[in-house]
Amino acid sequence: MEYEPPQREETIRKGITGFLEGGPLSAKELSKLAGIPEKEVYTHLEHIQRTLKNAGKALNVLPPKCKHCGFEFRKRERLKKPGRCPVCRSSHIEGPLFSIG
Ligand SMILES: [Zn+2]
Repeated sequence: MEYEPPQREETIRKGITGFLEGGPLSAKELSKLAGIPEKEVYTHLEHIQRTLKNAGKALNVLPPKCKHCGFEFRKRERLKKPGRCPVCRSSHIEGPLFSIG
């Protein structure tokens, strides 16, 4: 019988951290690389962000951008992709890209 070892989460976070050190990636790309759902990627990213802060590093977030009018979501605190553009109301949003600096 298989069971999930408690270190699983830690292993996933280490993996994601490694991918991020290789360059800017979207949550979608990270989900493929780590083999976990996109919504779980955000949970891990929030955790990684705190860990990095303690280590004197930072999670760099390239702001999401509206594909329709080019609006950039610069003031955004949350990591998740916004639903709609506040300027043109388009839902064609290019998600944020993450890297480690
Ligand atoms: Zn727009």
